[in-house]
Amino acid sequence: MSSIVAIVGRPNVGKSTLFNRLIQRREAIVDAVSGVTRDRHYGRTDWNGKEFSVIDTGGYVKGSDDVFEAEIDKQVELAIDEADAIIFMVEVESGVTGMDEEVANLLRKVDKPVFLVINKVDNNDRLAQAVEFYSLGLGEYYPISSINGSGTGDLLDDVVKALPEKEDVRVDDLPRFAVVGRPNAGKSSFINALIGEERYIVTDIAGTTRDAIDTRYNRFGFEFNLVDTAGIRRKSKVKEDLEFYSVMRSVRAIEHCDVCLLVLDATRGFDGQDQNIFWLAERNRKGIVILVNKWDLVEKETNSAKEFEKEIREKIAPFTDVPIIFISALTKQRVYKAIETAVEVYQNKSKNIKTSVLNEVLLPIIENNPPPALKGKYVKIKYITQLPTPQPQFAFFCNLPQYVKEPYKRFLENKLREQFDFHGVPISIYMRKK
Ligand code: GDP
Ligand code: GDP
Repeated sequence: MSSIVAIVGRPNVGKSTLFNRLIQRREAIVDAVSGVTRDRHYGRTDWNGKEFSVIDTGGYVKGSDDVFEAEIDKQVELAIDEADAIIFMVEVESGVTGMDEEVANLLRKVDKPVFLVINKVDNNDRLAQAVEFYSLGLGEYYPISSINGSGTGDLLDDVVKALPEKEDVRVDDLPRFAVVGRPNAGKSSFINALIGEERYIVTDIAGTTRDAIDTRYNRFGFEFNLVDTAGIRRKSKVKEDLEFYSVMRSVRAIEHCDVCLLVLDATRGFDGQDQNIFWLAERNRKGIVILVNKWDLVEKETNSAKEFEKEIREKIAPFTDVPIIFISALTKQRVYKAIETAVEVYQNKSKNIKTSVLNEVLLPIIENNPPPALKGKYVKIKYITQLPTPQPQFAFFCNLPQYVKEPYKRFLENKLREQFDFHGVPISIYMRKK
């Protein structure tokens, strides 16, 4: 479970420049909202071995000062609700502005670590100018230059120190499922169809973090925990905020679960936001089951399910070995199948294949299809072992690990999947020197 750091501040101080520096080449999730608000970004990064998520709350608005103010309030509210630490960014060129004071007033009352960051301190002259920001009453500050990176190391050292230790200790060995998806995809309807009334609840287990709660169920003979998040404390009236909250909620739920049940609305197809959630689950190495919901609303022709499935698989490539189930939360069609499959994916994810079996099965295949020679050198894979990690990871020991390229690793992954059923589970392959 990783923590969330939010970057707030008025437009043009350099928030997205810092965000991009933190995320580097990693892909960010863009919450593209129409109209007044600029895109908001979410991404993951790590510093000193500690992983965390970053939100650039964006919030560029054209308009009067009142609109500005309302927008800044919303940004800060979002940060206060969802983040574990807040980076409040100002910039030295324009000095202290009224809007900076406004934000400082809001943040002084916050019971979370706040880091006052003065950006665009590109040289020593500007360092001297920065002292005027003491007037914001937020104490010590961090002079940085987002463009050239100076000062950002010291800032991050202190930010990660302030993040809570969220050890994700398991309370039991039951699978943890998270039901995720866009608003209105039918998540609550699915959960209702699945568990019906309260009587299926075995017990409430307070999660080890304040954000996620596991509730234990016994249904259709399966015992499992459903991960719920307490992310939305403030009910936003604004639709675009609702979307963003729901993204943040998914982020937390995904990080906390073993298997994600990604619910889609069949009448809308598989779109960018669905792809983002899928991508998040995959990057977090979680099991995935795709549930195409509202199937009762789709006019069926002979091949509609097949075609729909094909379209989804094209969009989730290269990780396509994922169950896709057509359900209706309304008529309860295949709800049992959905949960049965989720349990299977969990079992696949927990699978531990003995070294002797791995070698017996894979070495002959490798012998028949060895890695291509590179610069006249031959790679010899000697043995294979599964690493003792929570997600399936395999080490292939060989003489020249650096000579084994992506396509051959994909070949190995496909063979592993063919031989040992890792349906719904991301697997990792490492070449190691022996
Ligand atoms: P945001 O609106 O707060 O996200 O600000 P941006 O990241 O879009 O940056 C606004 C402008 O400030 C851009 O033209 C950036 O190139 C510039 N900028 C950002 N960081 C720095 C910096 O450290 N030094 C200087 N000189 N300019 C910067
Ligand atoms: P959530 O925001 O993802 O939790 O979505 P809801 O469960 O609140 O469902 C959104 C809307 O879709 C509601 O009006 C539901 O009645 C409707 N809905 C959900 N599942 C189905 C389904 O399988 N078939 C049909 N026809 N409607 C559904």
